[in-house]
Amino acid sequence: MGAMKVGALERYSQRMGRLVERHLAEAALIAARQLAEREAAEAKAARREIEITATALREEVAERERTQARLAYLATHDPLTALPNRTWFNDALAERVREAGGQNRKVALAYLDLDNFKDVNDTLGHEVGDQLLCLVAERLMAALKPGQSVARIGGDEFALIMPDARSAHAAAGVASALIALLRTPFEIANRPIFVGASAGVSLFPDDAGDTDLLHRHADLALYRAKADGRNRCTIFDQSVHDEVERRALLEQALREPGLFDQLQVAYQPQIDLRAGRFSGVEALLRWQHPRHGWMWPAEFIPAAERSGQILPIGKWVLLESCRQAARWLEEGLPPMTMSVNVSALQFRAGGIPALVAETLRETGLPPSALELEITETALMNPADDPAAVMGALHEMGVALAIDDFGTGYSSLSYLRQIKADRIKIDQSFIRDAPDNEDAAVIATAIVQLAHSLRLEVVAEGVESATHMDFVRRNGCDFAQGYFFSKAVAPDAIRELALRTTEPDPVS
Ligand code: C2E
Ligand code: MG
Ligand code: MG
Repeated sequence: MGAMKVGALERYSQRMGRLVERHLAEAALIAARQLAEREAAEAKAARREIEITATALREEVAERERTQARLAYLATHDPLTALPNRTWFNDALAERVREAGGQNRKVALAYLDLDNFKDVNDTLGHEVGDQLLCLVAERLMAALKPGQSVARIGGDEFALIMPDARSAHAAAGVASALIALLRTPFEIANRPIFVGASAGVSLFPDDAGDTDLLHRHADLALYRAKADGRNRCTIFDQSVHDEVERRALLEQALREPGLFDQLQVAYQPQIDLRAGRFSGVEALLRWQHPRHGWMWPAEFIPAAERSGQILPIGKWVLLESCRQAARWLEEGLPPMTMSVNVSALQFRAGGIPALVAETLRETGLPPSALELEITETALMNPADDPAAVMGALHEMGVALAIDDFGTGYSSLSYLRQIKADRIKIDQSFIRDAPDNEDAAVIATAIVQLAHSLRLEVVAEGVESATHMDFVRRNGCDFAQGYFFSKAVAPDAIRELALRTTEPDPVS
């Protein structure tokens, strides 16, 4: 090959080399560009994915927060009335007490309980009951002053915190105003619904140094307000504490085994004023506790009603007194009426006719020798229809007396409707009649109305010749009271019954 050829080839190859290099460089550039584009697209997709995930996460967190808030709300609020509940209230009270403790201020706690909510629920149904609770909550909320809080802490129980209370009396004033507010009837389904309320107040730090005690004392004061006749506000004090302790002791003692060995029935004579002779007895329960001594029915019957023990006790009294009456008949004593008290709670629990029938069968006492004494309030809201219960007793031949008449709300015509045979005018009228004109007028009117409806009238609590004179003049049919005799043991009744039938050898 010539030198020229070699030179040309070299040049050619150099040119080719450059060309290739350029192409290669271009290809590399394109590849690099493509790579960059792909990477950018991938990065964008990745970013979008990250964003989607982040949004989902944020959403999830928000949802979780919403759920937690909802749970927290539910945990601290009453779903029915939307008021704060007991949990919230306890925390709030603890907080207020903590604040006040450091600053030498007082905090008042008031418990507020509706008086006849159960009656509304029982007679008008739970739906009306629920509506009523909501309306009560609304009224309470609307009456709150700044700083005060109210909560629903139980079925028909509300509680109020009054921070910065001046005194227990001032707090009681606020609670009494709320009670007055609830006295105005509520309107549900176009009918007025009446509920009263009772309240109990305790004060930090005067009555209690911590919230537990503050709660307990407000509750005790409320308990006392209820026991004193409801529709009132009671302030906690030592006497409330002592009394409640006594009640707890009673309730405890009522549950002890051996109770029925400690019970006795005493019998108080009743006198037929027209015939001028002994006509029957009222069975009155007596309880001698081995450690606490004599307990009185006015005290322990309500305790037995609270604990439900009144049901077995009432059954026992009925059996015991029917057994005694049957024994007297068997011994040849003249026929007399055995009057047995039936508690409102027993009556409300239902099943009275069946219990009476069973007791009469077991003791062999003729139904005509038995009378049940029921208070006016027992006739309100019983489990069974009162007229039906009375009808069943009547068909059996058992008589019915309305006890403590004049202290409740029943009308005399209602008593006719439910087939009562006798009314017992409450002792308070007889006690006050000789000196108090109003009591005398009422007692006289009751006797006249009762007679016009062919109901017999028993005067209770006849203690003196003056009382006796009054009940005679007013035409009462029967009398019962210390003037004749206290409640006594069966033997004393036997003597009395025999004395009034057999001629007295001395006279
Ligand atoms: P109550 O049925 O109205 O009985 C009359 C109460 O008045 C009796 O009180 C009786 O001892 C008392 N008393 C009678 N005469 C006079 C008097 O002249 N002056 C005065 N100041 N009081 C007189 P007690 O035995 O303490 O019973 C009180 C209440 O306890 C009874 O009132 C009755 O509601 C209830 N109770 C008594 N025994 C029973 C029972 O076996 N079952 C039920 N469910 N309640 C009973
Ligand atoms: Mg009675
Ligand atoms: Mg009575």
